[in-house]
Amino acid sequence: MTTILAIHAHPDDIETLGAGTMALLAAKGHALKVVTVTAGDCGSSETDPVQTARIRRAEAAAAADLIGADYRCADIPDLSVFNDDPCRRRVTEMIRWAAPDIVLTASPADYHPDHEAVSVLVRDACFAASVPNYRTGDAAVMTGIPHLYFMDPIGGRDREGVRVVPDFGVDVADYFATKQAMLAAHKSQDSWVSKQHDISDHQASMEAWTRRRGRDFGVPLAEGFRQYRHHPYPRTPLLQELLGESLVTLNL
Ligand SMILES: [Zn+2]
Repeated sequence: MTTILAIHAHPDDIETLGAGTMALLAAKGHALKVVTVTAGDCGSSETDPVQTARIRRAEAAAAADLIGADYRCADIPDLSVFNDDPCRRRVTEMIRWAAPDIVLTASPADYHPDHEAVSVLVRDACFAASVPNYRTGDAAVMTGIPHLYFMDPIGGRDREGVRVVPDFGVDVADYFATKQAMLAAHKSQDSWVSKQHDISDHQASMEAWTRRRGRDFGVPLAEGFRQYRHHPYPRTPLLQELLGESLVTLNL
């Protein structure tokens, strides 16, 4: 059994970009963990940060529960995620808690500053998690660096509008209903994404993106990933091998 950690900035990011893949891996019997670096406490104009965080932690836990994943929140405040010492130690503690073989995280280039900060924090925390003298908390030091993968950015483009090309895709058609149910757990976000992001239908937006990525791979519904392969991170295709016939390659 392989342990997979999905770690992203806010509750509902993983549900939009990687939940189909997580549901597939759950169905194959692997151990799943989900971490949000923030509780998404800025994601409301109706409730204060403490109330919003409480609501959104519960929504994220309910979504993770649908695929049997353990959920934790790193509780760094929303819009306050930076590549600094406290945040790196906190994220490293989360990696050590999960002790994953595979990590799925945010794209290095994305629309939101927390997403970009999470990407670099997770990249570096994957390295730091196996460094014994790097002290973080109660979780055990890891024995090695996990395989690291980046999810797609929101909308599949960087801040200059350049398309971000995934290394490979995952055909998530068989798990799309689960992905929809996981996103639906984030009820508090329906009004927020309408107001702040001008997205009138959260579900329809997620479906449109998953279908768009599917077209790139010649299948109805897909999620894209890139593997981080720099020294000394593992370069073997561990996630790709777990996907079996659901692994799809580019048709751009
Ligand atoms: Zn986000």
